[in-house]
Amino acid sequence: MKKSPKSSLRSKPLASRWLLTLPSFAAALFSLALAAFLIFTAYSEQSARNHSLTQDLLWQKQALNTRVENFTHQLRTVAASMATDGLASAEFTARTLSLLQDSPEIISLEYVDETGQRRWRQPEINPGGLPDYHHPAIIAIRDAVLAGESSSYSRIILDVPDSPTLAIAVPIRLNFNGRHVLIAQLNLRTMLQQQVPWWISQRYQISLWDKEKLIAGKFDRAHDASKFNSSIDLSWPPNQLTLTAHVYAQRRDSWQTALTIVVAALSLLMLASTWALRRHIKERQKTEAQLRQEQALRESMENSLVTGIRAMDLQGRLFYVNRAFCEMVGYSQEQLFGASHPMPYWPPEEIEQCMAIYRAILSGRADTTGYQMRFMRSNGERFDVRLYAAKLIDGDGVHTGWISAIYDITELQREREALQASHERFVAVLNGLDAAVSVSDAVSGELLLSNRHFDSAFNIPDRHGRYCNIPLVRRSKGAPVDSEWFDDYHQHWYQVKSRSSIWVDGSEVWLEIATDITMLKNAQEQERQQKEQLQQTTRLISMGEMASSLAHELNQPLAAIASYATGCRNVLSQDNPNIAQLDQAIEKMAAQAKRAGQIIRGIREFVQRRAPHRKRCEIADLLDTVQTLLSAEIKKAQVKLSVSDTRHLPPIYADAVMLEQVIFNLMKNAIEAMAETPVKQRTLDVKVRRDDEMLAVSITDRGTGISTEQMEQLFKPFYTTKGSGMGMGLNICRSIIEHHQGRLWVEANPLGGSCFHFTLPLSIESEAYEP
Ligand code: ADP
Repeated sequence: MKKSPKSSLRSKPLASRWLLTLPSFAAALFSLALAAFLIFTAYSEQSARNHSLTQDLLWQKQALNTRVENFTHQLRTVAASMATDGLASAEFTARTLSLLQDSPEIISLEYVDETGQRRWRQPEINPGGLPDYHHPAIIAIRDAVLAGESSSYSRIILDVPDSPTLAIAVPIRLNFNGRHVLIAQLNLRTMLQQQVPWWISQRYQISLWDKEKLIAGKFDRAHDASKFNSSIDLSWPPNQLTLTAHVYAQRRDSWQTALTIVVAALSLLMLASTWALRRHIKERQKTEAQLRQEQALRESMENSLVTGIRAMDLQGRLFYVNRAFCEMVGYSQEQLFGASHPMPYWPPEEIEQCMAIYRAILSGRADTTGYQMRFMRSNGERFDVRLYAAKLIDGDGVHTGWISAIYDITELQREREALQASHERFVAVLNGLDAAVSVSDAVSGELLLSNRHFDSAFNIPDRHGRYCNIPLVRRSKGAPVDSEWFDDYHQHWYQVKSRSSIWVDGSEVWLEIATDITMLKNAQEQERQQKEQLQQTTRLISMGEMASSLAHELNQPLAAIASYATGCRNVLSQDNPNIAQLDQAIEKMAAQAKRAGQIIRGIREFVQRRAPHRKRCEIADLLDTVQTLLSAEIKKAQVKLSVSDTRHLPPIYADAVMLEQVIFNLMKNAIEAMAETPVKQRTLDVKVRRDDEMLAVSITDRGTGISTEQMEQLFKPFYTTKGSGMGMGLNICRSIIEHHQGRLWVEANPLGGSCFHFTLPLSIESEAYEP
């Protein structure tokens, strides 16, 4: 859509780098040139100063030399006039005076004869401390002159402070061949003060050195001497004097300094501004690079978007479309640019709806929640889209058109429909279930989902409100719960399965499935009642069978009572009845009556139809009752009964009559099975022992025994091998034992016969319950 910036991207850095570097380079060069200029100026100034120092020093040396030579010459002239005219001549006096006046550096003039005696002196009085003709240095030059020298300089005399003295001797050649000497003493300090002109003393500090020692100098106290200096030798033998000039530290001209500062400041300013400019340009380049990157990113985003984007101007003409939109509708950008209504991608059958939406967008009344529309690809294929439109505002805040985002929702629609169908199937299955299903929030208890069965079972009127679901059964964290619950209000029994689970939003929920088991419960109750009835019937049958033996059994105490009654009457008929005997007989009678009553109560309880009733009971008592009920039978069948020691056995919690029925049945079957057994072998062993937490009872006989095939058949209802049997005895026995959480089974007796075992738990009293 736009020219790729890649080519310019590559060439730009090189050019911009040059552009960036050039001003800095020029500024640096300018500063360097300026610095070089300043250095060069300072250097040439320095060499000029050097040159002028050397010149000035030479000039000064020359001036001093000339002065001393002039002075020597004048001395010679005075000496000559002395020789010719004598000391008293006006000529001599005039010359001497002129010499003294012209030369303030002269300390004294002396005339010494050949013998070394002083003949004349000017000034006549020694100002004090000054060396006179006796001084060894002066004697040395006097002698040199007397010896023939034309003139002689003394070594520098430093005896008097602030008065370094040089003595000069010249000969006075007398007519009569004699030689006298004229000696002048010069103050070198005064000479230096006199001989250094103002223009030198203004620029230099002049000093005179004898070897390392300063002997005289001319200083301007207002200025400091710089380190810059030069020296030159003064050849005044025998002295080795050095004349030194120190240049005064000069203050540079203020305008020059100011100019240098201004130029330096300007250079710095220029460098700083160039630097700032460079930074600015760099930042600008960085921003430009970022902008280019952003532009490229936006372009690639636009092109990689799956959302179609199209922009229209205020008149509704397309002026921008992205790649996704082109791919969606199957037209190129060129084909779409400038397109107006009807758009090429509007299906003919949808033109009206498309036009309405188009007008709504252009009038600024577009629905912000978007529109669902049907578009058409260039190949005629229709597809569903969702379109969102918004105002297009440019960078200056001007409304320039309308932009729309278009999503192809065909696939989404399909998925939504599939999802809807799947949801409907799920709801149909859920509602078709026989159980009441509910899902509720584990924390708030809010009912999140329920099926129709649940709603109707618990009267939930509609699904618009929010309900708090009270758990039907007690829940325990972690483990699923499976228990029964009775709906008191509707009088319904439910089997409730409840487990915690994770809901679609990740929260913890409880899933509860309540199955209506009222019918099952009723059936069970019916079955229970039927069983009870059956039990009673079997008991009645057993009793019927035993009626004759029981009659015999009852007959015994009744006969005993009758005989005791006869005995009593006999005793009473005596004159003196034996009361003690009577009392004994009545007591025995009462015991027999009690026994008869016990038998009758046992029979009544045994045959009475009643609900199970568990209570604490001793196995010994149960065995005792059964033994009583069966005693006549045992005796008749000639069976030898042995019962193991039942003492020290813990009590059990059971329905005593039911267990008596079990023991009764098993013992009775055992007696009947031994009908064909030789009398000697007819033994019935009843063993009771404790096996861990259980009470184990075994009833062993030596009867016909039971074949392996028979073993499990025995416990099925109506299985019997007896002509008059009902085949319900063992079946009832097993259900009674299982009802007491025990087990009943049969094994073969190795000695012949069979062995019936049953166990009962020795549970603690608190666990006993009464259903
Ligand atoms: P019924 O005594 O009315 O036949 P039961 O259920 O008590 O019903 O017994 C079923 C059958 O099991 C009996 O007919 C008998 O054949 C067999 N049976 C029961 N006890 C014994 C035993 N001690 N020895 C051998 N067979 C037995």
